[in-house]
This record gives sequence, structure tokens and C-alpha cells, in this order.
Amino acid sequence: MTTHLVWLRNDLRITDNKALHAACNEPDARVLAVFIATPQQWRRHDIAPRQAALIHASLKQLQQALEQKGIPLYCHQCDDFAASIDWLTDYCAKQQVTVLFYNRQYELNEWRRDQQVEQRLAGRVRCQHFDDSLLLPPGSVQTGSGEMYKVYTPFRNAFIRRLTESDVRCLPAPQPRAGALPIPDAPPAFEYSHADPGEDFPAGEQAALQRLRAFCRQQVQDYLTQRDLPAIAGTSSLSPYLAIGTLSPRQCFNRLCAEHPSVLEERESGAFGWLNELIWREFYRHLMAAYPALCRHRPFIAWTDKVRWRNDESLLQAWQRGKTGYPIVDAAMRQLNNTGWMHNRLRMISASFLVKDLLIDWRVGERYFMSQLLDGDLAANNGGWQWAASTGTDAVPYFRIFNPTSQSERFDPQGTFIRKWLPELADVPDNDIHQPHLWAQKQQLVLNYPLPVVDHRQARLETLAAFEAAKQGG
Ligand code: FAD
Repeated sequence: MTTHLVWLRNDLRITDNKALHAACNEPDARVLAVFIATPQQWRRHDIAPRQAALIHASLKQLQQALEQKGIPLYCHQCDDFAASIDWLTDYCAKQQVTVLFYNRQYELNEWRRDQQVEQRLAGRVRCQHFDDSLLLPPGSVQTGSGEMYKVYTPFRNAFIRRLTESDVRCLPAPQPRAGALPIPDAPPAFEYSHADPGEDFPAGEQAALQRLRAFCRQQVQDYLTQRDLPAIAGTSSLSPYLAIGTLSPRQCFNRLCAEHPSVLEERESGAFGWLNELIWREFYRHLMAAYPALCRHRPFIAWTDKVRWRNDESLLQAWQRGKTGYPIVDAAMRQLNNTGWMHNRLRMISASFLVKDLLIDWRVGERYFMSQLLDGDLAANNGGWQWAASTGTDAVPYFRIFNPTSQSERFDPQGTFIRKWLPELADVPDNDIHQPHLWAQKQQLVLNYPLPVVDHRQARLETLAAFEAAKQGG
């Protein structure tokens, strides 16, 4: 009898899972599945405990769903990647596995681990891997001279051309398999999964699919007008599911097309606007696969590595705790600290503030976001930070510096979002909410809220000087 083993990683779903689907193609094969938690590795890379908890909760549901298909899912904990390779090779030997199926991960460490696994199993176990976590695989969208695009818009245009020629249909969940296999223990609590993932993101594939359906049916048409307003739930909030793979980008694309069949032709529509964001996700992953140095947190624009960051510890703490005296930044950081999610506009504002107002190295912020985010994803997080810090490809130019007060006035005009997270500003009138210290001064009041930790105009000049000095050679 042949035994097929599916190694699940960030693809925690039974529908539209290429590796799982392929493993189940042979009706007589015995199909097993494993998931290996590596808490030491997660800790080293600052994965948020909340994300580990979401993975854990999603695994419980996945185990039950697979059990109904006659596929046992074993969850095992190893310290790090080296131990996981040993464990997996032993397990393949014990279970007499004939074929190992897995979906590729494009991060450098993960890619190297998979290479090692394949080498260790060579000659004994056949390995089949798949490009599953993207609409189009890395390397498949290239310039005429066969290189990765470095600018987003031409990438997107080429991507869409390629997408229309590709088969990106979703795969069904496997059919139930005959023959009873032993039922494995429930996933053990990982050393790192003690946190509460919160109520905003219920675990599992069904929750993700329900949210996707509702968003594509009821909300996506208003996406362009609402996506920048943090007080409104105008975006899909699907990122944690895409990050851990309880949802696939093909599911997103197909659902979007089912509700909005002319999405690719109507470029001014909300549906196209949303697809555009899904393509940003692809862009950053394709970039990471083409430039693995990004996984080592190297800046894309080399001279920016010469910027002399101030890296003031007390300013960093003020930013992390949401106590900078800039309400929009503080509300954003408290949303992140409390829920593990932050609105995209706020990620841009708070990242820009850390780098360009506090002159703190973008990598410090990148790490902090990763340590808090439920949707923490190396490629998207690195891409977002390098964009905001002007160190990335197709990033905001270094001399374009967000003004946190005007961003706040523009995107949270009545301070609805600010008030939600900063109850100490409840009594400040709408017009003054963006600069409460000025209002308090006029009223001769003492607010229980910090004064601005830096003066934006001054900070801007210092940052421009730091970038210009770096550009001229440091
Ligand atoms: P929607 O607006 O509904 O978009 C749909 C999906 O497209 C998202 O779920 C996400 O998977 C993808 N997406 C949207 N915008 C982007 C983008 N700019 N780059 C890449 N993918 C995108 N996203 C993450 O998934 N993980 C991260 O760790 C992450 N870190 C970020 C850090 C910074 C500094 C910035 C500026 C952005 C970061 N983003 C990250 C991108 C973006 O902020 C989130 O994907 C988005 O806010 C998630 O909310 P949503 O699901 O409602 O998005």
C-alpha cells in the first residue's frame, strides 16, 4: 500500500489546498497529515503569540474537518527547523511514507528547510511541492528581459495579463476516504500558543469563507471610498486568514469574480480596487522570492542603510505604548496592541511616524509589528515597512513625509476612531481632537494625555538631513 503524507504549514484548510488535493488523488493510498509547530523559530522571528494561538485554534478545526474525510492530522512540536527536519524524516520512515506532499513557502529559512528535507528523503520518499499561496507563482511574471519587476504598476499590468491566461480555479475539498485510520490526539498546546487570538477573528476555514462571501457581496463595491477610513469596517479583514492559509488567494479571486464578473474590465470599481490589494500581496511575495536578502531585512535601496538612526529608547516605548501625543498614531498602536490587527492607512501613518518623525530604524518597527500582528507575514510586513521608510523598491520617496496631523484630519475627520481607542480624549471637540494639547492650552486644562513627543516640523527637517547625508555617502 502507498502512503501519502501531507505536510501542512501555512495552508490550514481542506478546500483549495493543492498539496492535500494531490495527495488524495490516488483512491487506494493511505493519506496522513502532519503539522509541526516550531516555537523557538517563531520566537526568533518575533511571531506574535496571538498568531500562534490563531494557528492552534485553526488546527483544532482542521483536524476535525480532515477526520471527517478519513485523514488523521498529527500535530507535533519541535523546537526549531533542524529538529523538525529530523522528526519529519523519522516519521516518514516509521509510517513508510511513499510520497510527501507540501505547498511551498518562499521565505529563505523555510525554503532552505524544505531543500534539506528533500535531500534527506531522496531515494526513499518522493517529494511533490506546489505553488499554492499565491495566484501566480514567483518568477512567472517578469519583464521582457526576464527579470522581476521592481515597480508595482507594470507588475500589476503584466500580472493581470498572465492571470487571464492561467487556470486559477479553486480545488474542492477531498472526498471522504474509505477505511478507518486511528484518530490522533487533539493538537497539544504549543509552548507559544497561550495568547488569546481575540474575538474579532474567529478561527478556521468556515469563518474565513463566510467573511469573504459577505465582503464580496455587500461591501466590496464601496471599497475605494471606504478603505482609507479606519473608523469604518471598509476593508475585508481577511489578512489573518490569508497569512496562515485558512483562506487562499484563489478563493478570494474566484469569489470576487462570481459576485463581480467584469472586475478586470472595470478598473474604477471597488472590486478592482480590492483585487489591486491582493496583487500587492503577490508583488511583495514575488519580490521576496527574487531577492532573498529581503528575508534578512536588507533595504532594497542600499544607500538607505547608511541613514544614522537616532533609535531613542524612550521614544520607541512611547510609540509602542501609544503615548506619543499624536492621537492618530496612539490610537493605531493601541488598536494593534489590543486586537493584533491594524488598519492599512494606520500602518502607513504609524510606520512613517516611527521612521520619519522619531528617526528610528524601520527594522525595529518591522519587528514590533510582527510581534503583535495576527496577520504577521514576512513579505507583506517587510514590503510595508520598506515602503513607508523609503528604503524599498517603488516606495514613497524619502522626501515625502506624512504629516500625522493632516493624515488624521483627512482620514478620521471627526476623531471617531481616535475616541474609540483614546477614551482620555472623549471630551475634546471634533475640531481639536487631532491636536488636543493646543485645545487644552486654550482651555487651561491638564489632559491625562501626553504632549507631542517631537515637533513634527523639526523632526521632518532632521529626517530629511539624515537621508540626504546617507545618500551622499553617510
Ligand atoms: P484588504 O484591504 O481587505 O485587502 C485584502 C488583502 O490583500 C489583505 O487581507 C492582504 O492579504 C492583502 N493586502 C492588502 N494590502 C496589502 C499591502 N499593502 N501589501 C500586501 N498585501 C496587502 N499585511 C499583512 O497581511 N501582513 C503584514 O504583516 C502586514 N504588515 C504591514 C506593515 C506595514 C507597515 C504596512 C504599511 C502594511 C502592512 N500590511 C501587512 C498590508 C496591509 O496593511 C494589510 O494587509 C491590510 O491592512 C489587511 O487588512 P484587510 O485584510 O482588511 O485588507
